[in-house]
Amino acid sequence: MNIVVVGCGFGGVEVVRTLRKEAKELDITMIDRKPQFDYQPAYPELLSGKVTPEEISCDLKKFATKIGAGFIHAEVVNIDFKAKKVKLKANAEDEGRDIPYDFLVIAIGAEQTFFGIPGAEKLSHTVNTLNDTIATKNALDKLDHSKESSIAVIGAGLTGVEVAGELVDYFKDRGALARIYLVELMPRILPALPKENVAIYVSKFLSDSGVEILTETAVQEVSEGEITFKDGRKLPYDIIIWTAGIKPNSLLEILAVPKVKGWLKVDFYLRVEGMDDVFAVGDTVYFEREGVRAGQNVEEAEGQGRVAAVNIVRTIKGEKLKRYRPKNTIQNPRALISLGDGKAVVYFGGMVFRVFAYRLKKFVEHRYMKRF
Ligand SMILES: Cc1cc2nc3c(=O)[nH]c(=O)nc-3n(C[C@H](O)[C@H](O)[C@H](O)COP(=O)(O)OP(=O)(O)OC[C@H]3O[C@@H](n4cnc5c(N)ncnc54)[C@H](O)[C@@H]3O)c2cc1C
Repeated sequence: MNIVVVGCGFGGVEVVRTLRKEAKELDITMIDRKPQFDYQPAYPELLSGKVTPEEISCDLKKFATKIGAGFIHAEVVNIDFKAKKVKLKANAEDEGRDIPYDFLVIAIGAEQTFFGIPGAEKLSHTVNTLNDTIATKNALDKLDHSKESSIAVIGAGLTGVEVAGELVDYFKDRGALARIYLVELMPRILPALPKENVAIYVSKFLSDSGVEILTETAVQEVSEGEITFKDGRKLPYDIIIWTAGIKPNSLLEILAVPKVKGWLKVDFYLRVEGMDDVFAVGDTVYFEREGVRAGQNVEEAEGQGRVAAVNIVRTIKGEKLKRYRPKNTIQNPRALISLGDGKAVVYFGGMVFRVFAYRLKKFVEHRYMKRF
C-alpha cells in the first residue's frame, strides 16, 4: 500500500508520524513544494531577530529518511482521483511526473488573501511563509533608521498583534524611532476570540508599548507610500505588513471535490466527502458538525493528522473508523499569543493567563522542533 501525503506542514507531518507508528509496513511518500518544514508560529519573532530561520525550519528529506518515508520536492498541480494519480509540476529534470497512490492525504494549508483591495498585494509585505518573512525583515533592515519610520500592520488577529509586538522590539533594539499602526476592520482587536477580556489586555499592552491601534478602519486602496481608508483618512507608510485573512489554497480551485466556500469538505472521519481513499487535514479543510466548526490552527491540523492516519490504517484492516472531534474551535477557540518584550498571554476557556505564558510558548516551539 502506498500512502501519498501532499503538503508537509503541521497536518501532513503528523499524518506521516502517526502512520509510521501505526503500521511499519506501509510505503509513505511525502510531497511538498518547499524543501523544508517551517514553524510558522515563530515567524513574527524572526522579524525582531529573537529566532533565526535555521532554528525554526528543518530539512524534509532528512526527516523523511529518519522516519522511513520518501520525499519529493515538487509542486502538485493536479490530482486525478479516478486514475489515483497526483500530477507534479514540470521542472528542469522532467516534464511533470504522475505519482500513483492507494490512499491520498491532502494537507496543503491556506493562502493569504488581500480581498481584491487595489494595490494591497503588490505593495504589502507578509509573514505568510518563511521566505516572505525574511523579505519583510530585509525591508525593515533597509529603512533609514536615523529617521522615524511608519509601519502599518493590517489585520489585528493573532498574527497581526504578534507582529506589532515584535516590531516594537525591533525598533527598540536599534534605538530607532517608528510609528507602528495596527489596523483592524472590526470594533476591537482579536475579533476571532469571543471574550473581550483578552482584547482589552492585549490592546493596553501594545498601546503602552507605543503601538497605535486603529479599529473600525477599513483599507480601501494602497498606493505607493500611502494607504487610503474607506472613511477618507490617509496614512503615509514606509512598510505595510499584511496579516488580514486567509483563503483556500488555489490548487483546490481546479480539483473536482466537494467544497464549502472554497474549503475542502470532509466527513466525520476526515475523508473528502464521497471518497473512501482520499483524506484531508489542516487549514485546507472545512469541518462543521452540530454547530461546531474546527478552527484553522496547529492544534487542529495535528489532531486531524492523527485521526486521518488512524483511519487510513483502519480502512486497510477493514475496522470501524474513528470520528474526529475538534477541540480548538471557532466557537470556543484557545490561543497562545506572544506580545513582544518576552511576554505572552494564554487565552483558554474564555479566560486570560499571563504567568509563564511566554515560557510555555517557547517550550512548545522547542519541543516541536526536536522531533526533526
Ligand atoms: C505567521 C503565522 C503565525 C501563526 N501562529 C500560529 C499560532 O501561534 N498558533 C496556531 O495554532 N497557529 C498559528 N498559525 C496558523 C498555523 O500555522 C496553521 O494553522 C497551520 O500551519 C496549518 O497546518 P497545515 O498543515 O494545514 O498547513 P501548513 O502548515 O501551511 O502546511 C501546508 C504545506 O503544504 C505545502 N503545499 C501547499 N500547496 C502545495 C502544492 N500545490 N504542492 C505541494 N505542496 C504544497 C506547503 O508548502 C506547506 O508546507 C500561524 C500562521 C502564520 C502564517
